[in-house]
Amino acid sequence: MRADPAEYQLVSPGNLQAVLSVLASEPAQWLPIAGGTDVMVLYSAGKLPNRKLINIWNIPELRQIELFPDTIRIGAACTYTALRRHEIISREFPLLATAASWTGGIANQNRGTLGGNIANASPAADSLPALLVYDAELTLISVRGERRVPYREFHTGYKKMALASDELIRDISLQRRFSEYVSHARKVGARNAQAISKVCLAALGQVSNGMIQDVRLAVGSVAPVPLRLQETERLLTGRKIEPSLIAVARKSVAKEIQPIDDIRSAARYRTAVACNLVGDFLVKFAAEGAKS
Ligand SMILES: Cc1cc2nc3c(=O)[nH]c(=O)nc-3n(C[C@H](O)[C@H](O)[C@H](O)COP(=O)(O)OP(=O)(O)OC[C@H]3O[C@@H](n4cnc5c(N)ncnc54)[C@H](O)[C@@H]3O)c2cc1C
Repeated sequence: MRADPAEYQLVSPGNLQAVLSVLASEPAQWLPIAGGTDVMVLYSAGKLPNRKLINIWNIPELRQIELFPDTIRIGAACTYTALRRHEIISREFPLLATAASWTGGIANQNRGTLGGNIANASPAADSLPALLVYDAELTLISVRGERRVPYREFHTGYKKMALASDELIRDISLQRRFSEYVSHARKVGARNAQAISKVCLAALGQVSNGMIQDVRLAVGSVAPVPLRLQETERLLTGRKIEPSLIAVARKSVAKEIQPIDDIRSAARYRTAVACNLVGDFLVKFAAEGAKS
């Protein structure tokens, strides 16, 4: 371990208002730590810039999953294990439950949180394409009050987000209106478990009388932020679902994404995989849509 514990301060106020007061008291000095699965990697490597950490793991409001007739509200400090085990999330939001099952190994899923995945702001984060296609909304809180931000507006550039230094993500709300959609999730990494995505896809679609009513596609690891493929969605919506659409979609996906070469993969490979994943989804969509 390259960090010296004596150089760090950790506080654990145990209630939400006290956490917010500490964050506001010394702007940009205190770093929230939830499960610590990202923070502790930086700490161990001696690369954590903040010296003051504030524990939010034990705040009850951040650990709840609340059900309402039209929405589900997921506390930001809910773990992947909690998401995977939740009956309504598994049934109505399978893309999120699947992404939770991909994230690291069991130990990581017991500690890693949805809010941490959002605030860590990696373009390769596995849960974020699902949040895009489900039109998730974030509630951000501080001593100044609370505000709601559509998740699609939250990540504004590579590792940049619409979160002030005194704010916390309190919860993530999803509308309960996608359970009849065809859904498809795929992650391509170096291996099946414990691998950061080279490309990941979350896709949803609805067909009526053979025509595409709604289609939602989001891809990770192909741009500075997780990307909703709006142009491809626009091209597909209202069209008859047929094999020729796959070629149209592939061409459009290749134009929309901006992958890079990095240690995990090459831009050319990422483009080919993103096109293949969308093509696979359309095959499934056509087969399942034909039944409806
Ligand atoms: C072995 C290993 C495997 C992994 N595999 C994957 C994988 O396959 N896919 C994947 O997507 N990720 C993976 N990760 C990354 C990590 O587990 C996730 O990003 C996790 O969701 C982070 O949550 P956390 O609670 O541990 O965050 P923390 O480490 O506690 O925090 C991460 C960041 O988020 C901020 N933060 C946390 N909660 C909040 C909040 N409520 N409001 C505001 N800011 C907040 C923190 O200040 C910090 O900047 C892996 C990590 C490890 C160590």
